[in-house]
Amino acid sequence: MIHLKNGILGKVCSTCHEWKSLDEFPTDPTHASSQGRHCRCRDCHKKFARRRRQKLALVRNAVIVIAMGVCAVILLQAKGKPRTYETGKLVDVSVQEVTRGIAVISGMAAPIPGKLYTFQIQVNDLTYFAEYRAGKLSYKPDWVVNDPIQARLGDDNKMYLKRSNGQELEVLIVKKVRQKDSNN
Ligand SMILES: [Zn+2]
Repeated sequence: MIHLKNGILGKVCSTCHEWKSLDEFPTDPTHASSQGRHCRCRDCHKKFARRRRQKLALVRNAVIVIAMGVCAVILLQAKGKPRTYETGKLVDVSVQEVTRGIAVISGMAAPIPGKLYTFQIQVNDLTYFAEYRAGKLSYKPDWVVNDPIQARLGDDNKMYLKRSNGQELEVLIVKKVRQKDSNN
């Protein structure tokens, strides 16, 4: 293994197979038989470390790309989830002026004005009474009474009305009335 060459102690690197002086090998206490020198020369060590870093970077990038792909799929699924509406009829809308709370403006309490819309929407044999509280800058409903309206039911007595721009207006169902069967 270790032998003299031109009066210098050295050995052949296990990786590049070149004879190099012992100084060219990193110290490694587990290699007692090789005078505590590693079997791989410093140059090969550096190359090896660089390749390992590159491999790790590749793996890390692959993980990032996969994670981004998974996120994109989840987003697409959430977005592409078809919202199924039922076509109902807007039976009536009433609008009340209401107070949406109290604002304190320079030490003075002032009521925040708002509007309370109550929609009556008939879907199949049920008429839903649903409320929407609008502030000054909120969306102003522009449905026409007796026109069809697209609605879907949500959790917690919520109902979503499809607006002309494709967005939804969330309203709160406060009452449901079943239509009496006209055949009886
Ligand atoms: Zn080497």
